[in-house]
Amino acid sequence: MRQSSADKELYRNFGVYVHVPFCASACGYCRFYKKVPGGGDVAFYLKNLEAEADKFRRENPDCTVVDTMFWGGGTPSILSPEDIRKMGRIFEGLSPSKEWTVEVSPSTLTSEKLDAYKSLGVTRISLGVQSFNENTLKRLGRRHSLSDTLKAIDLVASKNFEHFSIDLIFGAAGQSVLEFETDLRRAAASPVDHISAYCLEFESGTSSCAGEKTAEWESQNARQAELFELAMSRLPELGFGQYEISNYAKTPQSRCLHNLCTWHMAQWRGFGPAAASQFGGLRFRNPASVKKWADALSGASAMEDVVVLDDCELYSSALIFGLRLNDGVDLAELKSRFPGADEKKYAAAISTLCQNGLLEKRNSRLLLTKEGRLYADSVAVDLL
Ligand code: SF4
Repeated sequence: MRQSSADKELYRNFGVYVHVPFCASACGYCRFYKKVPGGGDVAFYLKNLEAEADKFRRENPDCTVVDTMFWGGGTPSILSPEDIRKMGRIFEGLSPSKEWTVEVSPSTLTSEKLDAYKSLGVTRISLGVQSFNENTLKRLGRRHSLSDTLKAIDLVASKNFEHFSIDLIFGAAGQSVLEFETDLRRAAASPVDHISAYCLEFESGTSSCAGEKTAEWESQNARQAELFELAMSRLPELGFGQYEISNYAKTPQSRCLHNLCTWHMAQWRGFGPAAASQFGGLRFRNPASVKKWADALSGASAMEDVVVLDDCELYSSALIFGLRLNDGVDLAELKSRFPGADEKKYAAAISTLCQNGLLEKRNSRLLLTKEGRLYADSVAVDLL
């Protein structure tokens, strides 16, 4: 399989990620930076977001072509329609030409908020359904009910965004195979063109569905692997092809372009507390605290965990993240993108992983096998 020109286009992508760090309450399993907003918090955040965007424009006057934008969190839909429009104005001149995603939750979504997104040019709504089962929602500590979810799905569908995605989470304590199968069927029967199905242990960062072979992992592995395999077999039967470990799309055009570009190690700039960036030859993260982020913005730099990106680092990242994709990576293409990398250092590990049935080679292309997708994180560890 040869690398297509569409793939090469992805490498040149520049995306903007905006982290909205507010949630109505904190779910126990969540590992993202968020806080329940108090009086004045949202206004303080927006003021500093504007300062960060202005600073970026001043320092990068030529960087005006944005391909994708993603507002994530947190819960971006917690903001009022007026604040949503304010956020849109903050990023004027950096509007994306190809895709604009906003994550929303059933408990905070309203028709007016969707109208505000539409007026800004948002093309893709990602709804955090998590489950269609009331008991699972309670076990996850979610604020929304099934009735909120069904209303939110109808509302989003009525606004005719170009793309509509649903997030599911599996592996909550007590969730049966039948319950998860029902979630998959209900998601696929919804008016969506994309479904993400995440493993709870991965979301919580305590272990991984695809993950480390600790004793705890071993004991939880069988049930989570069963649910993961169920998603991998059932969703394609229901019309949603898997293109990444946790992501399924109705057509190639309904894949999430912004995320594809991050897996392909293109460039993106993150705004807001805890937002990560890969930009201008550096990978870095903003402080994971609204106050520290705002303080850092008024100082010299908001950058933390800075990594200088050379060919070795980018080759390694593109290999690890590219393997998450069903298409895998083209090793010859990686070498031509990152000629300074020492690709030979991966040869022994790749050979062992192929012998163990976790990786397979098809000419110059390297892919996870179906079994390998269950162990993607430990494959990554073996390669590093
Ligand atoms: S899972 Fe979503 S809604 Fe829950 S705390 Fe995390 S970001 Fe907020």
